[in-house]
Amino acid sequence: MSERVCLECGKAIFGRSDKKFCSDECRSAYNNARNRATTNMMRKVNATLKRNRDILLSFNPHGKANVHKDRLRDAGFNFNYHTNSYTTKAGKTYYFCYDQGYIVHENGYCSLVVKKEYID
Ligand SMILES: [Zn+2]
Repeated sequence: MSERVCLECGKAIFGRSDKKFCSDECRSAYNNARNRATTNMMRKVNATLKRNRDILLSFNPHGKANVHKDRLRDAGFNFNYHTNSYTTKAGKTYYFCYDQGYIVHENGYCSLVVKKEYID
């Protein structure tokens, strides 16, 4: 039987076989660190989504616009992040960062749109 060690401090654990920590202090230190990592990850994702929205809005101040995807990318847009998507009956997919959306056409240009029901 292999010796079990505390996930936080690495000391040997005695007692119940499902114990993962040597003490309550180690348990909370471990969980706090994990929560911090989750919070940091979520903060980064949220910041990326907000930056994406700001970039779309800056290229689309009047609710409809066309812009090449390279210009969005050059402005710092991250195409891997969006909040939701909408696929039309024709099979075309709009991607949204909150209320600001876009669709990429085959020629590399994007039509920018605004989701109206989010505004008011
Ligand atoms: Zn410990």
